[in-house]
Amino acid sequence: MFDFFRIKKACEHDKIPLDVEFAYCPDCGELVENQWYIVRCACCGVKLRGMIKNGKIIPEKHYCHNCGCSEYVVEKIDKINFIDIRFAVLRREVVVSNISDCTQSWVDNVGVYYGKKYIQCKS
Ligand SMILES: [Zn+2]
Ligand SMILES: [Zn+2]
Ligand SMILES: [Zn+2]
Repeated sequence: MFDFFRIKKACEHDKIPLDVEFAYCPDCGELVENQWYIVRCACCGVKLRGMIKNGKIIPEKHYCHNCGCSEYVVEKIDKINFIDIRFAVLRREVVVSNISDCTQSWVDNVGVYYGKKYIQCKS
């Protein structure tokens, strides 16, 4: 059990394809969401190259290359396109399964992750 959690924690889910919204990670079996973010200058609105540092999404450079300001905003985008992908920051989040949701795949998931807890679907 201990090993199981350690492996899960270390997983970067880096085999998930970039062009899907959700996928099961082939390394750890978790359902993972690809979340894309764009960093913009708060002043002039130009897109800035972003990165993740200590779990936060920040611009790579401290000052805007267009106007020199240091204020920025982070936008979550629904669908990545090939223009934005140069700027966008990808964060892979494990989706927490909703136990009350009784579709087949969720039930399978519950069976795996909740061990002995048996969830019965009444619908
Ligand atoms: Zn994984
Ligand atoms: Zn400015
Ligand atoms: Zn700017």
